Amino acid sequence: TAAHRINYRAELNDQQFAAVTSPPGQALVIAGAGSGKTRTLTYRVAYLLDNGIPPENILLLTFTNKAAREMLERVQGLVPVETNRLWGGTFHSIGNRLLRKHADRLGLKQGFSIMDREDQKDLMDTVVSNGNIDTTTYRFPKPEVLGEIFSLADNTGKSVREILSTRYPYFEPVVDGILKVRELYTEKKLETNNVDFDDLLTMAVRLMKENPDLLERYRRTFQFILVDEYQDTNLLQCELIDLLSGEQGNLMVVGDDAQSIYSWRGANVKNILEFPKRYPKARVHKIEVNYRSVPEVLTLANRTIEGNKDQFRKALQPSREGKGTLPALVPLDNGSAQAAFVAQRILELRDEGIELDEIAIIYRAHFHSLEIQMELTNRGIPFQITSGLRFFEQAHVKDVAAFMKFAANRLDEVSFMRMVRLVPGIGSSSAGKMWEHWVKNGSALGTLTHEEFSKALLGIKVPKKATKTWEQTAYTLSELVDAEGKLVPPPAMIRSIMEGVYEDYMRAKFKNSDQRKQDLEQLSNYSVRFTDVQEFLSQLALVSGVDTDERPAASPDTEAVTLTTAHQAKGLEWHTVFAVWLAEGMFPNNRVIEEGGEEGLEEERRLFYVTVTRAKDELYLTYPVINYQARDGEVLQRPSRFLQELPQNLMEKWNVRSMFA
Ligand code: ATP
Ligand code: MG
Repeated sequence: TAAHRINYRAELNDQQFAAVTSPPGQALVIAGAGSGKTRTLTYRVAYLLDNGIPPENILLLTFTNKAAREMLERVQGLVPVETNRLWGGTFHSIGNRLLRKHADRLGLKQGFSIMDREDQKDLMDTVVSNGNIDTTTYRFPKPEVLGEIFSLADNTGKSVREILSTRYPYFEPVVDGILKVRELYTEKKLETNNVDFDDLLTMAVRLMKENPDLLERYRRTFQFILVDEYQDTNLLQCELIDLLSGEQGNLMVVGDDAQSIYSWRGANVKNILEFPKRYPKARVHKIEVNYRSVPEVLTLANRTIEGNKDQFRKALQPSREGKGTLPALVPLDNGSAQAAFVAQRILELRDEGIELDEIAIIYRAHFHSLEIQMELTNRGIPFQITSGLRFFEQAHVKDVAAFMKFAANRLDEVSFMRMVRLVPGIGSSSAGKMWEHWVKNGSALGTLTHEEFSKALLGIKVPKKATKTWEQTAYTLSELVDAEGKLVPPPAMIRSIMEGVYEDYMRAKFKNSDQRKQDLEQLSNYSVRFTDVQEFLSQLALVSGVDTDERPAASPDTEAVTLTTAHQAKGLEWHTVFAVWLAEGMFPNNRVIEEGGEEGLEEERRLFYVTVTRAKDELYLTYPVINYQARDGEVLQRPSRFLQELPQNLMEKWNVRSMFA
């Protein structure tokens, strides 16, 4: 209807318009930062809906789930169509949806659990210690390193041997042991009805490869596939898209090779560079205007990336006019002076009318944020953080989730162990025996009513001193299932667990149990929107995985400064950006300087490019001249080579008198 007519011509430039309205087939939009790639995809979705494509026939793949949600909200504002019927989210979340629907075809059972990195480490530990693996004669990788090796193998399609020889040569002598662990680990996952993060992708690909009928069906379902941040897809993701789309599919991918920053996790920039080769009929769209940043910031950004030899040349012109301010180069005495400067400047900006939401502090590594977190806290400046230990990865949240996961998946050894080890008087060895008992008595399968579940759990033998608390725990667990054997809704589950036993455990286990209780209340509020436990648990797992981007906001409208790593900042934008710890060894990172070679350095430079291109109006480049290190005492630091490479006239040097001088 005319009521919602979108004026595509007015809201897009010619290149964007051509991409948005391009006829069916394949299209690649390759363009620099802030040129409107994400906007183009958003309007493309609106355009498809406008032209009568049913939402359930559109698949939108984004870097974070939050990005998908935001794009769809925007679309909802443009077209009166229920956008939640669309398939939108990360590769992992779409993989999860496919696996849930077709678990049986993969040898999985309904209600399988998703392990996060910590669960994975626990299971790997079990496998290594039960598997008769020789870990002492030669150096053997730790469980988390094993996880990394397997993950790289999965995501790059290479063999474990290849991964070892290119990245971990010192573990080559124990390759047989590592392969054995991989085999046992895979078996154990199936046995406990668990999948890890990479399985969400590998199994989705396998599902499509091994089941032509499903492939056929999903090709019909996903009539239009759209992918943002395509430069950071890995082999598996690329393969999944290619499979689902097929040679004839309607596939639009957008990205920027200069922002490819995940090769360390298996991403391959060739996917985007060779797209036209793989799809010879693809239309290629380039956008050469930047809408995000003032010319001063853009000039600096363009200059930054010129340092890289290996790139597609793109000339980005500013669309914004007027005189912005030069990016500020701010050397500070030390880390605390840097934190004080950032906090002080934020308060001034707030007085100037800049909202805290419009300010970000970006750093290379999570620990760079610690001093700043303290300073902001001391000055009462609210902030939200997208790195480090995340809300859903905290011990108490995971404890409560373990009860829920076990109630939903009675084969889940990992969650069972975590749960029973909370019971006072039960240690690792009795926990192991309890698991054996549980498995042997066949109670592990089928639907059990509240009564049956309770009886089966109480039947497990426990050490005498734990009898009473185990009874309470068993009863609490059985309350998660109703009289017919159905799982009760998530908020009711969380209430039962907390009131039944967990509040007591928490008081004994943690010092700050009040804070944690509040967290769990927040979790409970968050869970209200889910009626299905499975969906809730998947969501928990997906947001605590590699692509995390949210926590359940206490009140979503509290204004807060964003603290983020450069990796997590991609795709986002703020009025003001503080890029901190820009010292040699910090950014670029020491390890990369020592062993990354030219390629590693180019990736660091791209990461720096991503960092500076987040700023719309103001950019502060700061570094501490002196760094206190536990081992070496005071160390003098040089500014990052990325700063030294820039002509001085692109920045204004600020002399901030240190408060500690
Ligand atoms: P990145 O590479 O960082 O992901 P991007 O290419 O996806 O950036 P967008 O985030 O889509 O860029 O756009 C950057 C900013 O420019 C946004 O605020 C967007 O709304 C604005 N913008 C993009 N195109 C236009 C346009 N044609 N008219 C007005 N504003 C635009
Ligand atoms: Mg984008």
